Amino acid sequence: MRLLSGLCVKVFLRERAILSFRMNNDIEFMQYALEEARAAAAAGEVPVGALLVHDGTILARSGNRTIRDCDPTAHAEIVVMRKAARTLMNYRLADTTLYVTIEPCSMCAGAMIQARIPRLVYGADDPKGGAVHSYFEILSHEGLNHQVEITSGVLADDCAAVIQSFFADRR
Ligand SMILES: [Zn+2]
Repeated sequence: MRLLSGLCVKVFLRERAILSFRMNNDIEFMQYALEEARAAAAAGEVPVGALLVHDGTILARSGNRTIRDCDPTAHAEIVVMRKAARTLMNYRLADTTLYVTIEPCSMCAGAMIQARIPRLVYGADDPKGGAVHSYFEILSHEGLNHQVEITSGVLADDCAAVIQSFFADRR
């Protein structure tokens, strides 16, 4: 009995260790996404930043590029998906995590499903156009075969502050 409970404690501790390791990683990666968001703001773009991570390695990082590229689809998430797919030479982005500072819109959520990205980590909610849970719930639609694991609220205050100060400066 003692052996059994010892084993349970061990497993429990290991699970907690894995969970906190993952949380630390999420925060670290979100800090890189925030750097991309700030760089986008400096370039006059709406400051959203994203990363595509595979096996703990950053495959691609970018901010929004819609104005610079004259491309309405050049949201940070789309840019990193395109770059990462070229790097992996595969249009399916298996075993990857998409980090983005703001809740993805319907276009980006749709592209995540096309790419079969298994995990999304985002910072702040977007009540006006968020397509994960704020406005639409595209990723958790019951008709979808592909399921995305979602972690939200990572450095949410910092992610929201970058957007808010960008628009405050423009008023
Ligand atoms: Zn988008």
